[in-house]
Amino acid sequence: MIIVPEREIADLMTREAAFDAVEKVFAAMAAGDAYNFPVVREAIGHEDALYGFKGGFDKAGLTLGLKAGGYWPNNLEKRDIINHQSTVFLFDPDTGKAKAMVGGNLLTALRTAAASSVSIKHLARKDAKVIGMVGAGHQATFQLRAALEQRDFEKVIGWNYHPEMLPNIEKVAKEAGVAFEAVELEGMTEADVIISITSSFDATLMADHVGAGCHVACMGTDTKGKQEVEAALLQKATVFTDEVAQSISIGEAQHAVGEGLITEGDVHQLGAVINGTHKGRSSDDEITLFDGTGVGLQDLAVAASVVDLAVEQGRAIEVDF
Ligand code: NAD
Repeated sequence: MIIVPEREIADLMTREAAFDAVEKVFAAMAAGDAYNFPVVREAIGHEDALYGFKGGFDKAGLTLGLKAGGYWPNNLEKRDIINHQSTVFLFDPDTGKAKAMVGGNLLTALRTAAASSVSIKHLARKDAKVIGMVGAGHQATFQLRAALEQRDFEKVIGWNYHPEMLPNIEKVAKEAGVAFEAVELEGMTEADVIISITSSFDATLMADHVGAGCHVACMGTDTKGKQEVEAALLQKATVFTDEVAQSISIGEAQHAVGEGLITEGDVHQLGAVINGTHKGRSSDDEITLFDGTGVGLQDLAVAASVVDLAVEQGRAIEVDF
């Protein structure tokens, strides 16, 4: 069995490899070659922790396994380690033997950023120049860094519920040589692409804050009850997602479907656009929206990719197991 510890991931994994892995697995999901298993998430009654498993099987990529982990809210204060903790386990689909154990913390941020980037590649207007960020926390920096590679963006505009966090994304924009401006939510109408990545339980980005032709990637809503954008925005937009079942139950579409503004049939798989079975954006004025809920197959795809890189570079730890 191969072990790739968390400390090795930053040197091994690239944004490009994460993007390729996620794009391929979204395509395999839409083609019916890959499927996610039901998610298990439990409050374990110890340390206020939420623990669970996200797994799946990709027949096209021959990737089988699961990500185990969750959220330990006391970690940072009590132990000086991050609150989100996860590990990916890969199995040989031919034999069932354990194949690899891979640190999943940084990979989670990279695969989530790759998902919105894949949506920008396939759905944003080619001439997009202004990118808007709603959110400025840990994930937001990864999101922006990856998104800036998808178009010739000239300006980043940002809004955050906690304005004192905006320098986090301003730093990323500056490092990429792109201008940054803090705006009110009304100012988001200037954006050609908007990424929303917050832990909000109430809509902050309203339908009126989004201009014609914009592509919106909603990346924060991954649990029942969370909400980042007004449900009316989904009614106005053409809606895409990683997985329809998750989008309507734990993703942003849970609200628009719950309020009867759209139906399950209005939510399309991004993988269908990648495969060419859905035409994607059909005009420069159309608003497209990607509801990125986060699926186990994304974790397995990037973990398999990092295992390949570790083996290629002679940095994989092999144990007899
Ligand atoms: P973080 O704690 O670093 O940042 C939280 C962000 O949400 C900050 O910008 C904060 O200002 C904002 N925020 C907090 N309360 C708010 C409120 N009431 N209204 C509006 N904004 C508010 O968290 P993070 O690690 O950046 O994660 C952000 C979100 O992304 C979380 O909800 C997390 O569960 C989700 N997430 C989703 C995926 C996925 O695959 N879709 C993957 C990882 C994380």
